Amino acid sequence: MGVFSSVDRIGHTHVLFGADDASGLRAIIAIHSTALGPALGGTRFFPYASDEDALRDVLRLSRGMTLKNAAAGLDLGGGKAVIIGDPHKLKSERLLRAYGRFVNSLHGLYVTAEDVGTTTDDMAIIGRETKWVAGQARWDGGSGDPSPSTALGLFSSLQAVAEHLWGSPDLQGKRIAVQGVGKVGHAYVQLLTGAGANVFVADMWQPAVDRAVQDFGATQVGPDEILTLDVDIISPCAMGAVLTEDTIPTLKCLAVVGSANNQLGEDKDADRLADRGILYAPDFVVNAGGVINVAEELRGYRDDRAEAHVRALQIRTKEILATAAERGINPHQAAVDMAMERIESIGDLRRIRRDGNDRN
Ligand code: NAD
Repeated sequence: MGVFSSVDRIGHTHVLFGADDASGLRAIIAIHSTALGPALGGTRFFPYASDEDALRDVLRLSRGMTLKNAAAGLDLGGGKAVIIGDPHKLKSERLLRAYGRFVNSLHGLYVTAEDVGTTTDDMAIIGRETKWVAGQARWDGGSGDPSPSTALGLFSSLQAVAEHLWGSPDLQGKRIAVQGVGKVGHAYVQLLTGAGANVFVADMWQPAVDRAVQDFGATQVGPDEILTLDVDIISPCAMGAVLTEDTIPTLKCLAVVGSANNQLGEDKDADRLADRGILYAPDFVVNAGGVINVAEELRGYRDDRAEAHVRALQIRTKEILATAAERGINPHQAAVDMAMERIESIGDLRRIRRDGNDRN
């Protein structure tokens, strides 16, 4: 596969393979960009079918982190790591510490955090070998589980969408369908019902649905119906690629605002949504609350400051929607362009030395 091919205006700067036979560690760290600062992105521990699949995933995910971190206004580049294998079978102290040493060998060019298959406890073990790790537990001075912050950021972005659609961020009586009420979805439904919205939920796992119904009075619908309900907003909070050439014609909503990563099957789907008059709030913008919260650890975590930064996603989403309208492009394209423009403009500042010893 074309590891060295540039996927857009910028390509990957480093792709590193690390192994430790004694523990079975096989990991890949991909750094897509350090133009804005150290590359921050989680470590995914997953039983990939092949090394090629793992490589493809880490390249795609690290590029996504560049866009997400830049769009969120962070002074951080984009990177991601994968550990190949089943975390339930392979995870051990030795493996995580070997991985920590691998991360440390990059001297801070890459900062890791949790992702699918890794936890705050794992970050504590990795942190015994490297300081370049975020996503530590709250009791350990860290930012803890990012999901509540992701939910708050999503809710704040939804308020910007509401303002765009109806001239007010008020969600009282709005009909909102949430696909997936897991860690993010559950906290998000709490915020929605707290704001007086009329919320419909679906999940493949019945206990998750029951919890949302019992805790917040949400209305249960089937997993097959949730995306085609006649509602104001659809919030995909489960999995990616739910907005495709096949599904877009079936939607009956005014806007899509959800936490799931990579909701579009392909970039063209953003045009398909716009052609149908459906406002799509870019996933990598509206789901950045978790990474904004984690990034606060790098400055010394304070939850009031973290919360203020997460809530500022309302302003960012507003700016993106305004820019899209101004430029006559869809919001997804506007967000990609704005992220790239920030990387080029702020990244270029490094030409100006701040002092004689400064290499940044
Ligand atoms: P989670 O695993 O806790 O919850 C996902 C839920 O979706 C589960 O309850 C699962 O049963 C359900 N689900 C799966 N397939 C479904 C389907 N077809 N229909 C209905 N429900 C389905 O995950 P999470 O942490 O809440 O994350 C949700 C999404 O948001 C993921 O796509 C994730 O990548 C993304 N995201 C999460 C965070 C975070 O901070 N956790 C940050 C950014 C993005």
